[in-house]
Formats: sequence, structure tokens, C-alpha cells
Amino acid sequence: MKLIALPAFEDNYVWLLHNGQQALVVDPGDAAPVEQALSGLGLKLLSILVTHHHADHTGGVAALRQSTGAQVLGPARERIPAPYQPLQGGDQFQALGIGFRAIDVPGHTAGHVAYLADNAAGAPLLFCGDTLFSGGCGRLFEGTPAQMLVSLDTLAALPDDTRVCCAHEYTLSNLRFARTVEPDNTALAAYEQHCQLLRRQGQPTLPSRMGLERTINPFLRSRTPEVMRSVQTHAALPSTNDDVAVFAALRQWKNEFK
Ligand code: ZN
Ligand code: FE
Repeated sequence: MKLIALPAFEDNYVWLLHNGQQALVVDPGDAAPVEQALSGLGLKLLSILVTHHHADHTGGVAALRQSTGAQVLGPARERIPAPYQPLQGGDQFQALGIGFRAIDVPGHTAGHVAYLADNAAGAPLLFCGDTLFSGGCGRLFEGTPAQMLVSLDTLAALPDDTRVCCAHEYTLSNLRFARTVEPDNTALAAYEQHCQLLRRQGQPTLPSRMGLERTINPFLRSRTPEVMRSVQTHAALPSTNDDVAVFAALRQWKNEFK
């Protein structure tokens, strides 16, 4: 099984997984880079997985369905180009002979789902759309901070070696914010240097790993004393044990961060 991040638009990735003959893609916002990869590698597209309804994740679905006949699977609670097989948290399916499970992760959008393959060539594989980014998380367009915190908690509980396939290359700007929140986090400083090098070489910083995200991503660390203290100081929050309030203030801080 081979995993490839196909760049699309400014900073999207369409994830392509293939076995040398057959392929699946996740969140094809644009059909062109997918069609190019399929013909370049001589692959037949069997499945299209969609995490949420935004156009930069669905714009190429109809064209790819038409040109390849691939089946489309997507979030039951959102409107994406029909027809498709609607999925919600707990639903299981097979694609490319791999077992997948849908996970409900509301927050960025109301019906956002993530897809987990427990054992795709060694390590678990997570396609999390715009819910979790390396060093960050998605903006709350339709959901509440409480919902997003539960969604991120669910993803953070996955095994350390889970490969985290995010839909955007936002890592460096996320890490700049993360360093402001946690200036003393040495793992974070080292990871930032590593990612700067990758970007200078034109490489994606993704996939990330869940164990790493738990050590560097402030949105998975909002209950640590370091992040709580930093958020409380920045937002002039009273000292509180309300984890949703701290998470909400952290997300707000990031929204305003320049
Ligand atoms: Zn989105
Ligand atoms: Fe997006």
C-alpha cells in the first residue's frame, strides 16, 4: 500500500492510497491532480471518501465519479454531490480490501466525519479532513468548542503510531502559534525545525503521527498546566478548571493570531 499527498489549490492535500493497481482518494477538491496521478501511475480509482461538505474537499467528486465510476462515501449529515453512501460514526466499510471505520468529529462543520483504517500496511491510518491539523485544528464554522474538544479527544485517543493525514499544509503557521503558546516546549521547537527543512525541500510535512501531535499540538494539550497557564494569561481568564472555556479561548487566540 502506498500513500501519497497530492497537492491541490494553495495548500490542500488530496490523499491517494493505492496498491499498484487500484486506488482510493480522500477529499478530492479538484479532479485534475487526481486524474493526473491515476494515469501517471496506471491506477484504477475504486473509492472516493469525503470528510465534509466544503468545496475544497468535494469540488472534484462529480467529475471523478463520472470519469472512473468510483463509489463515493461521505458524511450522512452533510450535503455532498449525490449519489453517495452515507456514513456516520461507527459505520464500517471495506475499500481497497482495507477495513475502515467512520468517526464523528463535529466542530469544523456540523457533520464532519474522519476515516480510520486500523491496520493499513503496518500502522493505523487516519484521514481527518479539517478537524485536526499538524500543530493545530480546524476553525469552528458550524460547531461549538465543546463539540470540537470531544472530537479532538476522540482522535487523540488513537494509538501513537497512527499516521495523521490532514487535508491542508498549515503546519508551519500552526507551529508559529504553538511556539507562542508553549515557548518552553523543546519537542515543539525541534519539530518546527524539522518541518521548516521539509518545506524548504518542497516536501509535505504530512502525514504526522498521533503520538507526536500529543506532544506538540496545543489543541490536544489544552488541559496541560503549561497551555492552561498561557491561555489564562493571554485571555485574562480567571484561573479555571473549565476545560471547554480554556479550549474556546485557545481557539479564539489562534483566530486572532497574526
Ligand atoms: Zn473545510
Ligand atoms: Fe479545507
